[in-house]
Amino acid sequence: MLEKKPGIKEDQFDAPLARYTTLKIGGDAKRLIQPSTVAELASIVDELAKNNEQWFVLGGGSNLLISSKGFSGTVVRTTQITTVERLESNLIEAGAGSRLPHLARHAAQWGLCGLEFAAGIPGTVGGGVIMNAGAHGSSMSEIVEEISVYDSTINKVITLKKDELGFQYRRCTLDPAKHAVLSAKLRLNTDRPEEIEVRIRHNEEYRLRTQPIGFPNAGSTFKNPEPTRAAGMLLDQSGAKELKEGQAAVSALHANFVINLGGATSDQVTTLLHKMQDRVMEKFGVRLNPEWKTLGDFTAEEKAVWSP
Ligand SMILES: Cc1cc2nc3c(=O)[nH]c(=O)nc-3n(C[C@H](O)[C@H](O)[C@H](O)COP(=O)(O)OP(=O)(O)OC[C@H]3O[C@@H](n4cnc5c(N)ncnc54)[C@H](O)[C@@H]3O)c2cc1C
Repeated sequence: MLEKKPGIKEDQFDAPLARYTTLKIGGDAKRLIQPSTVAELASIVDELAKNNEQWFVLGGGSNLLISSKGFSGTVVRTTQITTVERLESNLIEAGAGSRLPHLARHAAQWGLCGLEFAAGIPGTVGGGVIMNAGAHGSSMSEIVEEISVYDSTINKVITLKKDELGFQYRRCTLDPAKHAVLSAKLRLNTDRPEEIEVRIRHNEEYRLRTQPIGFPNAGSTFKNPEPTRAAGMLLDQSGAKELKEGQAAVSALHANFVINLGGATSDQVTTLLHKMQDRVMEKFGVRLNPEWKTLGDFTAEEKAVWSP
């Protein structure tokens, strides 16, 4: 069993995880560790991997459904690792846990643009790389130059260039069960800070108008089946906005957002996701695949939501 390390902010057993997700759902983790540096993150995951312990790297928990039954392994949460450094005039390096909105503003103050798209994405740099987070026609794949990653298949920290990450729509080739993103170097452009701030505000206001920010949610539930066929539109036209299961409901503002009305459980959410998939299949013959990742115990029936 991993020894408690000095300097690590929190090291807790039977840790409730709901509070660390934007959907506010999730049971307890057997153990939760919150490293505060990149070096600590690498050494913790190295030790867990070498001991063959079950581990999961958690970022902002903003694209995640955690089982209400919990997770019987160790969660390593990165959000204390918030370093941001300017390496060259338009190259910055951010620790895995840096929040994307914070990073966009930080860059803007330096007169660096290219991160405005991420100003309303409540994830971290690590989660942003894994998911190739994107919005407003841009994505992480356009700005990542290289990343530092712990690879548990070879028990080493390695550097991977953008071309080695196989970025695609909302994914890359890294497997979060094997790779822990430690930090990322981002290549940006220059502009006047005031101009960048205007674009950030514009993107933030768009979100306030179009997304159910007042309720716990995990962003878009399903991926767009094709670039020109938005999942939200297909769900809306299938009448999915009327769907509800227990305390989990489809948002009336955006049909691809599931909201937690208070006290929703993961099984209520998976049942709702099945219903949403069924509606779109019946109306359009299209199978929607979830964008969200999962953590913890799910039944075979619940997992079927994620099978292609
Ligand atoms: C209101 C709202 C709006 C959103 N809008 C958008 C949007 O416009 N575009 C978009 O793309 N997404 C959006 N999202 C979804 C989400 O914010 C992104 O997918 C984000 O990149 C997830 O980052 P995270 O740190 O929260 O990852 P988490 O949810 O914590 O984890 C997601 C996956 O990444 C893995 N992971 C996280 N950090 C690391 C790491 N350091 N190393 C290895 N694996 C890691 C986890 O293991 C998990 O598999 C939105 C979410 C919300 C709640």
